[in-house]
Amino acid sequence: MISALGDLSRERAGTTLNATGKVLTPGFIDMHSHSDWRLWANRRAESKIRQGVTTEVVGNCGFSPAPVSPEFRDDLRGFALYVPKGMTFEWPSFRDYLHAFDADGTALNVVHLVGHGTLRIAAMGFARRPPTAGELTRMQRLMADAMDDGAWGLSTGLIYAPGSYAQTDEIIAVARSAARQRGFYASHIRGEGATLLDAVSEAIRVGREGELPVQVSHVKAAGRPNWGNVPRALELIDAARAEGIDVRADVYPYTASSTTLRTLLPDWALEGGIDAMLKRLADPTERARVRAAVESPSAESIVSRVGWENVMISYCAKRKDLEGRRLSEIARAQGIDAVEAAIQLIVDEAGKAYMILFQLDEADLRAALAHPHVMIGSDGSSLAPYGPLGEGKPHPRSYGTFPRVLGEYAREQRTLSLATAVHKMTGLPAARLGLRDRGVLRTGARADLVVFDARRVADRATYEDPHRYPDGIEHVIVNGRFVIKHGEHTGSLPGRVLTPP
Ligand SMILES: [Zn+2]
Repeated sequence: MISALGDLSRERAGTTLNATGKVLTPGFIDMHSHSDWRLWANRRAESKIRQGVTTEVVGNCGFSPAPVSPEFRDDLRGFALYVPKGMTFEWPSFRDYLHAFDADGTALNVVHLVGHGTLRIAAMGFARRPPTAGELTRMQRLMADAMDDGAWGLSTGLIYAPGSYAQTDEIIAVARSAARQRGFYASHIRGEGATLLDAVSEAIRVGREGELPVQVSHVKAAGRPNWGNVPRALELIDAARAEGIDVRADVYPYTASSTTLRTLLPDWALEGGIDAMLKRLADPTERARVRAAVESPSAESIVSRVGWENVMISYCAKRKDLEGRRLSEIARAQGIDAVEAAIQLIVDEAGKAYMILFQLDEADLRAALAHPHVMIGSDGSSLAPYGPLGEGKPHPRSYGTFPRVLGEYAREQRTLSLATAVHKMTGLPAARLGLRDRGVLRTGARADLVVFDARRVADRATYEDPHRYPDGIEHVIVNGRFVIKHGEHTGSLPGRVLTPP
């Protein structure tokens, strides 16, 4: 804990650190992370802790590793993109999962949300229909139990199957279970392109009718025709706040997004799970239907708004040679069209390939960064430039998000002040989480701390060369112990799974 602040020059101390000319802040809180899958394989949380992140909020976009029902265990396992050693899915309760996760320790603290997709799979598998009354009750009970077990709220991923199969009423019903125990609702909303504003309104409706705070995840307007819509989405958030609904958002400081390659497919292509998808794509008639849907200029069709030259393959398990290349170029080299190349790659990689989409607008990003109720969330994971987590060309946000906001957007572009930038990484997410003893520098608060050089702090990870740690983050302390000292990882694992106050 922080036991005193101020002029302590006359105090005796076991260790003294000279940080003259540097900035001392609370540890950064990554409001939107997917590290629940990666920390199992790298407890040192390399790419995050080296940015100054001391707490990660995981279980986002509708997908968490628990709770699991034995009946649908294989569906959940098949859906997981990355199943590290130790992740057995043998956890009927959220408590069992948290216990297993926490047993080996981590470098940073972790806050867990429950994914609606995971709850839905546990209750009804990959069925593309509304739940029966019994199934809905099951989801609500699992949600309530998870809150008892240490979860902080509910997340949805409404562009991803099976989350996309849910209507708003279902989400409100499950959200109410979380609300009863003071949980909040984080949403990867139903559309981030042409239907952005409707999707923000839906998230707000869940907050209003579910009676809980809303976090709009990674706010963006995807695709050139939709650029300029982020300020309008933020106006909807302001209006909801004026109405008394606690709505906020998070953003990452890049103009490219990243997700699984299979997200290009219509959601019905995933009905029944990954094996069913592969079977469908092996049937020529079904495959032609999928193909037509991928190419159709519908509102949320990714391809029609982005263009194949703006789709980069970032990770493949087999075709390593394709990583870092654009789909337009891959198709040309193979002598087929881009839709065919994409579908073939989804099949060859059994749905586990990733892409980066260059589809966002810099002015939209600046508007989000400058908005008082938008905080920082990487949407990335704790990676490392070595071992299995060092593969591929993942989105640089996993390595650069926080230093990029401090360096590029606060110091260089002056989109926001340094103090405001720090607040969006500390006090603001702490307020969202209801964390009273973190995210602030105050006597009695937990000693999660960062020392950085404001003149030098900068991200170094790029789309071409993403596995690079940032500059300027000198010391990182978690729960009173050094994890980064003079820029080097100490190997210490003082982080804990945090439970709600
Ligand atoms: Zn998401």
